Amino acid sequence: MTHTRTALIVGGGIAGPVTAMALQKAGIDSVVYEAHPTGAGSIGLFLTLGSNGVDALRVLGADKPALAAGFPTPGITLRNGAGKYLGVSRTGQSLPDGTTSQTIKRADLYRVLHEEACRRGVRVEHGKRLVGAEETPDGVRAMFADGSEAAGDLLIGCDGIHSSVRRIIDPAAPAPTYAGLITTGGYARGVQVDTEPGSYEMIFGKRAFFGFAKAPDGEVWWFANVPHRREPARGEVEAISGDEWRRRLLQLYADDAGPAVPLIQATQEMMPMSPIHAIPHLPTWHKGRMVVIGDAAHAPSPTSGQGASLSIEDAIVLAKCLRDLPSPQAAFARFEAARRPRVERIIKAAARINNSKAAGPVARVFRDAMLPMILKMVADSKAHRQTYDYHIDWDPSIPAAA
Ligand SMILES: Cc1cc2nc3c(=O)[nH]c(=O)nc-3n(C[C@H](O)[C@H](O)[C@H](O)COP(=O)(O)OP(=O)(O)OC[C@H]3O[C@@H](n4cnc5c(N)ncnc54)[C@H](O)[C@@H]3O)c2cc1C
Repeated sequence: MTHTRTALIVGGGIAGPVTAMALQKAGIDSVVYEAHPTGAGSIGLFLTLGSNGVDALRVLGADKPALAAGFPTPGITLRNGAGKYLGVSRTGQSLPDGTTSQTIKRADLYRVLHEEACRRGVRVEHGKRLVGAEETPDGVRAMFADGSEAAGDLLIGCDGIHSSVRRIIDPAAPAPTYAGLITTGGYARGVQVDTEPGSYEMIFGKRAFFGFAKAPDGEVWWFANVPHRREPARGEVEAISGDEWRRRLLQLYADDAGPAVPLIQATQEMMPMSPIHAIPHLPTWHKGRMVVIGDAAHAPSPTSGQGASLSIEDAIVLAKCLRDLPSPQAAFARFEAARRPRVERIIKAAARINNSKAAGPVARVFRDAMLPMILKMVADSKAHRQTYDYHIDWDPSIPAAA
């Protein structure tokens, strides 16, 4: 008798639906359990899907809806608070057909991935917040806050940076690390910014960091990263009203060149301010029949522009490991060996950039002097190529040893 393996996927953000599609391609059934009652939630603003993330979605033939919902942003122009040009940082490579990195609203990426998974017959159950999970003699059982349970052969935690599965696998797992920055942003119309559609600019302002991208329809998408040395208590910065944050941001950017002030003024509703966290090193990614992937295992700070892309890559590599190796345990170990060095290298590089976003006056002078040279060196460096040239071949089988 053949036994169809069933995976319980916890979390229906980015890694969740992509894992379900990848497992389907590998011949493994799955169900996605998402805590949010309707969609996967629309928290967050917009993000850059790196060319490596687009390339990974192509393995599943699932890139088109994501490309249609975003716009290409191949590079970022960097300036200081006086408006001085510091250089250009590429956000990816050109794929063989010329496609590059895309900027996309986070809610749109969630929506298109979810819709694509459902179109392929993936079952997504909403309102299912995982509160517990345990191994049984022949599988795994998941318990949800509404009192229901689900059984399967393995459980994949795609439940993001504040993952519950991570704590179930290892109760001593480290808490997310605070990056020293808080963030907000929004969408502004009717402000003339001096850039082309599809351009992305970032400004190391005197007191805070600011980024904006001009969408093809003229709307300007912006975000602010504000240094905040002490880690805010849970809910602390969120509790301060939008009007109060607007007032504070206008002061913070008052002396900077660039359009931060008019963009903030023209934004009807800013995203709630929130602290930036990362998970630079999680010692245990898997135990028995349970594993964490995506942000649940290794959240980079948003500065990397890689969180979504790494989650998508994870999903596909994990599906290959489960397809080719004889047990979940062997597959999870092989998955970790394949993925940990890459993701931790990218997370470390982003943490270094975060420090320069919160630089003091002396570090600022040093940064502005060095950055143009560093950007030129990085543009064609091995690290840059390693990040963006990553390509997953679906067909070759994964050997058991790394
Ligand atoms: C401000 C900001 C800007 C960012 N910018 C970028 C960028 O430019 N480029 C980039 O690539 N990445 C960026 N990221 C990171 C990116 O959003 C994440 O890396 C990515 O969303 C991770 O995907 P994931 O599926 O692992 O987790 P998530 O997308 O967080 O999805 C987790 C899902 O699990 C659900 N869930 C949580 N707990 C439970 C539970 N107990 N039971 C059931 N479901 C649960 C959640 O509701 C959610 O839907 C940014 C993040 C932030 C916060």
